[in-house]
Amino acid sequence: MKATLIYGPHDIRFENVPDPQIKLPTDAIVRVVASCVCGSDLWPYRGVTPTSEPHPIGHEFVGVVEEVGSEVSKVKRGDFVIAPFAISDGTCAHCRNGITTSCAHGGWWGSSGADGFPTDGGQAEALRVPLADGTLFPLTGQADAALIPSLLTLSDVMGTGHHVALSARVKQGDRVVVVGDGAVGLCAVLAAKRLGANQIIAMSRHPQRQALARDFGATDIITERGEEGAERVRELTRGVGADAVLECVGTKESMQQAFDAARPGGRVGFVGVPHGGPEAPISQMFYSNIGLAGGAAPARVYMPDLLPDVLEGRIEPGRVFDLELPLSQVADAYSAMDERRAIKVLLRP
Ligand SMILES: [Zn+2]
Repeated sequence: MKATLIYGPHDIRFENVPDPQIKLPTDAIVRVVASCVCGSDLWPYRGVTPTSEPHPIGHEFVGVVEEVGSEVSKVKRGDFVIAPFAISDGTCAHCRNGITTSCAHGGWWGSSGADGFPTDGGQAEALRVPLADGTLFPLTGQADAALIPSLLTLSDVMGTGHHVALSARVKQGDRVVVVGDGAVGLCAVLAAKRLGANQIIAMSRHPQRQALARDFGATDIITERGEEGAERVRELTRGVGADAVLECVGTKESMQQAFDAARPGGRVGFVGVPHGGPEAPISQMFYSNIGLAGGAAPARVYMPDLLPDVLEGRIEPGRVFDLELPLSQVADAYSAMDERRAIKVLLRP
């Protein structure tokens, strides 16, 4: 079978690998139905995160269970499953506290593996899933083909958008600013709307992303950045600033932008993977009583909550996919996202 490996900057290869096999009784083998490229995959693609040796890549996928180990009881052969971007047992103290991304026995797709075996990546035809009972979320019945893109977003971007909104404690009637117009930022708009925000200001300079942000519930679009951007937020919020700001980029500039958009007593949620040394402005937080929370989203935990909204069509996060390619063209998918020709690329084997 074939899987995607990253060899180094701008070097993505779709090549033959051994068929996945059950290594531990808690494993499952999943045949991938759809996968995709994440904005965070672009960090190693661009060489910002170094790749010391070739390894499998991809951490978002949905598929059908092909085989399970002897200790797997919650998923069975033939189940349609959604995989979150982190592996977790669902039973350790951190998982029970709802932070599956800190699972004591968990790990990451495409890594050297926490269980003694290398972990496969999700941009593949099939893969071994460790800790299948905790990691995989099975649907009741098979997935409607039209819903597959939206179901796939529960692997990461929609769960992450929900996490940033919860971290900033978005509630009914809030004025919200979203920093970042990638797939996560767009899903954060959707999540804020779903939680009852009254005003949602999306910061975006791309016409196509602005249009989708509006469809997802944004009431205002700001193209200005920095101090000008903060000034525009104040204008749009009657001189006060936002109740909640959702930071979905992860850079020094975007983090400062988030704090400058928040009102005194407001909250900043953050889910952008930190790059380039973003820092929390403690003095500004102190004198303005602005709170900060967030981090790697426990996407697995949010699936039961978000799934009914997807199944019943109340949210359509799958609209963030604006390009679909065969999995064999995965290298083109990376370049399309790298060059911002696509918001997010769906891949089907
Ligand atoms: Zn755990």
